[in-house]
Amino acid sequence: MNPIPPRPVDQVIAAARGFLGERITLNDAIRQQHSRGEDTTRPTLPDAVAFVETTEEVSRLLALCHAHRVPVTPFGAGTSLEGHVNPVRAGISLDLSRMTAILEVSAEDMDCLVEPGVTRQQLNAHLRDQGLFFPVDPGSHCTLGGMCATRASGTNAVRYGTMRENVLGLEVVLADGRVITTGGRTRKAAHGYDLTRLFVGSEGTLGVVTKIRLRLAGIPEAMVSAICAFETLEGAVNSVIATMQAGIPVARIELLDEAQMEACIAYSKLDHLRAVPTLFLEFHGSAAAVAEQAEAVQAIAAEHGGSGFEWAREAEARNRLWQARHDAYWAGIAWRPGKRGITTDVCVPISRLAEALLGAKADIAASGFEAPIVGHVGDGNFHTIILVDEGDAAQMERAWELDRRIVARALALGGTCSGEHGVGLGKREFLEPEHGAEALAVMRALKATLDPHGIMNPGKLLPDAPA
Ligand SMILES: Cc1cc2nc3c(=O)[nH]c(=O)nc-3n(C[C@H](O)[C@H](O)[C@H](O)COP(=O)(O)OP(=O)(O)OC[C@H]3O[C@@H](n4cnc5c(N)ncnc54)[C@H](O)[C@@H]3O)c2cc1C
Repeated sequence: MNPIPPRPVDQVIAAARGFLGERITLNDAIRQQHSRGEDTTRPTLPDAVAFVETTEEVSRLLALCHAHRVPVTPFGAGTSLEGHVNPVRAGISLDLSRMTAILEVSAEDMDCLVEPGVTRQQLNAHLRDQGLFFPVDPGSHCTLGGMCATRASGTNAVRYGTMRENVLGLEVVLADGRVITTGGRTRKAAHGYDLTRLFVGSEGTLGVVTKIRLRLAGIPEAMVSAICAFETLEGAVNSVIATMQAGIPVARIELLDEAQMEACIAYSKLDHLRAVPTLFLEFHGSAAAVAEQAEAVQAIAAEHGGSGFEWAREAEARNRLWQARHDAYWAGIAWRPGKRGITTDVCVPISRLAEALLGAKADIAASGFEAPIVGHVGDGNFHTIILVDEGDAAQMERAWELDRRIVARALALGGTCSGEHGVGLGKREFLEPEHGAEALAVMRALKATLDPHGIMNPGKLLPDAPA
């Protein structure tokens, strides 16, 4: 009898042991931890998890996987919400969370170079004494590599931009193990195809980010936060639209509906607040500029039924407020114990925000689901956290139906299925309606060029991604 030949993945694991040792593991608990992110997809176990520490290790491992046609799913902190890290075709889960060096900080040029496993919280703790900060702030403990890969944003994006604007350059290991650098340190460059922006948002489907050069911002002279309660959701949304259309450079302007406020009040012990539609705001600049912006927004809010501002000026009070906002997702889940969340992430042009958001609210009411709404509304972006029993297949189907309805309306209003969370598994069906067949064909051609064997995070982003 002929012996059964080893599987390609076993050959990769055996060869990778030579340079990773015990850092490539078949341990069940670790494979479970890498079987999905913070989403409701059915978990899939990778064959092995590799904890890489250097670019060279990533390169050697990818070259092996390329040669043996073994799938690789990059993994940062696993906080993504659309099934991104679920290794649907098994293979290797490539964990970058141990690449945590902050390699350079230039206060003069206001930039830095970091490895992908650094979190924004770690980077900001490192920068604090230099009067600088990194402004992109998702409400999770995620890695900067994951943030690059999902083109993440957060509450500051309305003023400081998203990862698209704040990544200056990258080091990327391609599917076959070649290492390239993209972008540069200058504020401007007209030097050919913009590969940085191709990889930012590519969700681990084109290569692995191993170094990131980031733009930094100066800590403003004055920062003041405020909350403003509204009797109606419409009033709150219309205040946001008027604020943005007036060109007031707010640093943050976030909306929480009454359900989300009820959840946050309970979770973050904000007992002095009311469970009504509420805006969380922040103003940055010189003391005079902050006062001027705050006055202008107050006047707009008053016209739309905003009932006075409650201010937070000291760092501690401001941090408490924004921690509560960042914890909104966990508050939503904790509000109804045992449930998980399907999170929509539509984004629309600011003039269409009221239609999109109030339409979503009506859809939620008609569906019978509880789904708190929270949003980076200054960007036209908001989330509904549809609370589900993930073991109930019929309920899950109805929840996805609600998700589709909310996305379809946003697309009809000139918006997008994802403002910041990305496509992963969950939003693939919307790519063709959003971009059209020809643009999708270009994306497929790029994928085939950079990853001819389809090993990089297979099954994600493109509707019919090759295995
Ligand atoms: C409570 C909560 C709040 C959130 N709030 C926000 C928010 O405000 N804004 C926002 O944008 N998102 C938000 N998210 C979503 C999530 O945190 C982001 O998508 C984040 O960028 C994911 O980073 P991660 O390190 O967890 O990546 P992972 O989930 O590990 O990976 C995400 C994707 O990136 C790929 N990837 C990871 N590292 C690399 C790398 N080095 N090279 C190539 N590909 C890589 C993975 O393959 C995967 O496709 C939130 C999530 C939670 C749970």
